[in-house]
This record gives sequence, C-alpha cells and structure tokens, in this order.
Amino acid sequence: MPCATGVSPEATGAPGRVSASTFPSEVAWTPIAEEAERATRVKHPAARLPRPVRRRVLAVANQKGGVGKTTSTVNLAAGLALQGLRTLVIDLDPQGNASTALGIEHRAGTPSAYEVLLGEIGVVDAVAVSPQSSNLLCIPATIDLAGSEIELVSMVARESRLSRSLSGVALDELGVDYVFIDCPPSLGLLTVNALVAAPEVLIPIQCEYYALEGLGQLLRNIELVQAHLNPALTVSTILLTMYDGRTKLADQVTAEVRKHFGDQVLRTVIPRSVKVSEAPGFGQTVLAYDPGSRGALSYLDAAREIALDRGNLDRGNLDRGYPDAGHSGTSEVSR
Ligand code: ATP
Ligand code: MG
Repeated sequence: MPCATGVSPEATGAPGRVSASTFPSEVAWTPIAEEAERATRVKHPAARLPRPVRRRVLAVANQKGGVGKTTSTVNLAAGLALQGLRTLVIDLDPQGNASTALGIEHRAGTPSAYEVLLGEIGVVDAVAVSPQSSNLLCIPATIDLAGSEIELVSMVARESRLSRSLSGVALDELGVDYVFIDCPPSLGLLTVNALVAAPEVLIPIQCEYYALEGLGQLLRNIELVQAHLNPALTVSTILLTMYDGRTKLADQVTAEVRKHFGDQVLRTVIPRSVKVSEAPGFGQTVLAYDPGSRGALSYLDAAREIALDRGNLDRGNLDRGYPDAGHSGTSEVSR
C-alpha cells in the first residue's frame, strides 16, 4: 500500500528494490509502477558489464536432474547479453531445453551440437542468434545428440571432441565473451566433453532436501578430469536455485552449501518463482518473458556477480580450489 511519503514499504535499498527517489516526484508509488520500473531496469540496464580479460567458458553441470542447470544457463546468458556481453550457449543436452528457452529451432536436421561434437561442421556453421538479443547465440541440441554418447565411445580422443571444436579461432570469429555449456543430467561422455572444453564449472544446487547428495560424485569426476584431461578445470561458481523463503529447509541447505563451498557460492540466490518455470513454455528466458519479476532480477544480479566479482580474477585465484578440496570436504558432501 502506498504510504504518505510515496515511499514503497519495501524501499530498503536492497538489490531488486526501488525507492521513492527512483520515481519522478509527481508519480505516486504503486506496485504496478514498481514492477514497470524493475522491468525497465532489466530490459535497459543502466550499466554495461566489462568484458572479461579472457573469454570465459563455463560448463553448467550437476548429474542430478531438474536442479536448474538449463534455467540457469539460459537466464545467466541472457543477463550477460542484455548487459552488453556477447554470450554463446551450447546446448549439450539431447532434451534441447536450452534451445527451446532461447527460441532456437532444434528439429532433427538442424545444424547442431551433435555435428560440432563429431567434428562434421564448425561452431560458426551451427550457431543461431536468439530472437531475444543479438548478443545471445546458441548452438542447439537436436535429438541426434541422444545417440552421440554411444557413437563417441569408439572414437579417438572421445573426451576432447568438443574442446577441439571450440578452438580459439572459431570463438574469436563469433566474438563471444562468455560461453555456457548446458550439460545433461548424467556424468557420461557429453558432460565429460563439456568439462574438458571449459576451464570453469558452474554447479547449480537446488535448495531442497537431497541437494548435496551426489555432489561428492560430481566433484570426484571433476577432480579426475582435472588430473587427466584438463588441468585448468576448476569449480568457480555455485548457484543456489529454487530458494523458497517460506521454508526453514531452504535456509538450512543454503547455510550448509555456504559452509562447504565458501566464496564459490554466489551471494545472489535464485528464488522459486512461477514466472521462471512458465517462461520456457513461451520459448523465452524469464528476462524476456517477465523482466519485472523477482526471478528475472535475480538472474540479472547473478549475471552481474559472475561478470564483476569473478570476471577479472586471475587463474591463480580461481585455482584456489573448493574448501576442503582433495580431502574430507568432498566425501562429507556426498553423504
Ligand atoms: P535436467 O537435469 O532435466 O536437464 P535441469 O537441471 O536443467 O534439468 P531445469 O530444466 O532448469 O533443470 O529446471 C527443472 C524444472 O524446474 C523446470 O520445470 C524449470 O522450469 C523449473 N525451475 C527451474 N528454476 C526454477 C525457479 N527458480 N522457480 C521455479 N521453477 C524453476
Ligand atoms: Mg537441463
């Protein structure tokens, strides 16, 4: 309810909130005005983000299904693109959900991640531009990718096919600053290819009871890839998703994840929001579907955090490893 001063009851100065000073003095605060202001802020961000010192490639991985890998991939990518950074999403999941959310054609026969993985075409020939932003590119996944894990088994250098295809020259040609690789919910060859191709791993963790279960297995796989195939690999970012502030459980999971992973966990937490889950049904990210929603603002904030707080870190900082890496931490979280 508007108060006498026209100041929103929520005007706390916290991220995602607006204050009376946001509005011209003759415009009274209303919930609709606040939402409109938020939408404007998302669609036309005041500040553009700096380009990273080096192109950043992040594999978005968690073998647990439905934790928000795809949702985070497409919305973080859209958040960076809206803020001026050219971003490529590689859909490495045969389900093709990231392609759908970005409004990209992915019927059988479309040039896709499958042909790129097998080295049949170059990344430039498989890239499509999302209708949501000219800065937002996608290599879609078609159903062909479903058979690729079996096809890869007998191939030479089966774990590093994607890495070879993503040569610096190809990505230079596209002029991309960020690459996100959306992994399927398994630790098979597709995920391994993503982990070999990317120096960074982003792990989305759902704020639910079984959130940490299986994480130890993922971390051990990452260590194996690091030891044998990609020494540069590091878990740079952990993103808490589907946070429901009404439950104590969400806070407990958040606290436990922060205790284990410390600074690797983004301060921004993605709330559970109907708008976020509705958006892919319209072939959109939530930033395009409902830019004034809490979900959109959270992903925009998370994208800023990734680009500003972590964008210009030296490898030395990123390589500090996760807390307790290589000893008890890994097994503790695999309870
Ligand atoms: P998979 O393992 O099958 O690839 P995933 O890890 O990619 O799944 P998503 O597809 O991103 O997970 O999300 C799983 C489901 O949860 C989807 O229906 C999605 O719309 C919904 N979802 C994701 N994030 C949120 C959120 N913040 N609020 C509400 N629903 C969400
Ligand atoms: Mg997915």
